[in-house]
Amino acid sequence: MSASLKGKSVIVTGGSKGIGKGIAKVFAGHGAKVLIVARHLKDAEAAAQELGKGGATVGACAADVTKLSDMEAMAKAAVDRHGALDVLCANAGIFPQAKIEEMSPESWDEVMNTNLKGTFLAIKACVPHLKNSSQGRIVITSSITGPVTGYPGWTHYGATKAGQLGFMRTACIELAKYGITVNAVMPGNIVTEGLAGLGEDYMKTMAASIPLKRLGAVEDIGNAAAFFASREAAYITGQTIIVDGGQILPESLEALASA
Ligand code: NAP
Repeated sequence: MSASLKGKSVIVTGGSKGIGKGIAKVFAGHGAKVLIVARHLKDAEAAAQELGKGGATVGACAADVTKLSDMEAMAKAAVDRHGALDVLCANAGIFPQAKIEEMSPESWDEVMNTNLKGTFLAIKACVPHLKNSSQGRIVITSSITGPVTGYPGWTHYGATKAGQLGFMRTACIELAKYGITVNAVMPGNIVTEGLAGLGEDYMKTMAASIPLKRLGAVEDIGNAAAFFASREAAYITGQTIIVDGGQILPESLEALASA
């Protein structure tokens, strides 16, 4: 797997922090040339500098996934810097919490625009370049929240994460003629700066509800993304992989306690 990613040009949206940074780290470790993308250039540059310390080729670019012109500039930047574009990891996302009764229409739109429309815009901008690759890959970061589970305060978020999978199942058919595969990783609870903001209690309760008894590491998601991007996954498209330590499996607290 690692050999087939060496020298590949990879974009990671939302790569400055959290899961995206973990994905960028794993790809850089496999010898890929990575472009980290986020709205805040300083954060993206700091991540690129940190991940590039061992000699890996990691660059940074400021772009907002809600703007098509930004996404087009991002795709061009990857081609200009790294000579091609082989892999898009459409990972950028936000997860503000608000229950339906308090949620504003503006908050709904912001989550839709970033998580769902942002996935579409990143893919739309990258396809013209991915078409030229012999190993064109799109890996979407979805979630268990929405497609499989629910959590109060995340109706909008869950809708976007389920929506990404609906989008993927037609996108993979449309893009198959170019040899581009489209797959999605569905993380459970992963330790990130974003998740840490939900508080110690949330983190502890969540870890206790997971059969493997720990929250995931960002590299756990990076490894799954790297598999989908590898040559070995060439015949897999429109598929999902849940990376959650078994979190969705116990059918009750009793099932977990009696193990
Ligand atoms: P995070 O730590 O908050 O990082 C979010 C990243 O996305 C940052 O790099 C941020 O940088 C970027 N971003 C946000 N809005 C953007 C925009 N409009 N344009 C470009 N970049 C943008 O989040 P995370 O926890 O790693 O989550 C990353 C992805 O994993 C999301 O899609 C999320 O739904 C998914 N996920 C996370 C978990 C988890 O447990 N953490 C679980 C399941 C799924 P800027 O602010 O500088 O733009």
